[in-house]
Amino acid sequence: MTPPKRKALFPGSFDPFTIGHEAIVKRALKMFDEIVIAVGANESKRGGFFSLNDRLAMISDAFSDEPRVTVESYQGLTVDFCKKSGAGFLLRGLRTAADFEYERAIAQVNKAMAQDIESVFLLTAPQHTPINSTIVKDILRHGGDVSKFIPSRIDLSKYSGIGR
Ligand code: ADP
Repeated sequence: MTPPKRKALFPGSFDPFTIGHEAIVKRALKMFDEIVIAVGANESKRGGFFSLNDRLAMISDAFSDEPRVTVESYQGLTVDFCKKSGAGFLLRGLRTAADFEYERAIAQVNKAMAQDIESVFLLTAPQHTPINSTIVKDILRHGGDVSKFIPSRIDLSKYSGIGR
């Protein structure tokens, strides 16, 4: 009998998807058979820059050669979407102690709601610690070049961005 597929959900805003996110997914591919990158659509987060469709398209560009990675949007509770996708794991990245405190609370609450889902954390590579989507957005708003921080397969000139 073939063992069940190990499937993880990587949820986030990904506004935009950075090389920090990409590195977490690539490393997690060694641990999981399939990864669903799940772009949250419900929180109308202040400071949203790229539309949901653009974020989905960008992430698809980044993993166009990796059939084990899929990209979807979701609304509602992350644990509900995890179950719906048949994923047993929630993947998150940790950069700093602040990330840890934030992630700890979310993971413990998720565990209380869905005992069968395990949260798994990967520590960021040191060179990716300072990279976050908020800073990348700020650079974009001021017309700066963010190509260093974005996966090379993503051509940002294809996507207009709300704040530009
Ligand atoms: P959210 O809005 O849920 O915080 P983000 O898009 O900011 O979503 O991030 C999604 C996940 O990726 C989070 O677990 C976050 O900690 C992680 N992450 C973001 N940037 C990096 C990075 N540079 N290195 C490692 N993990 C990161």
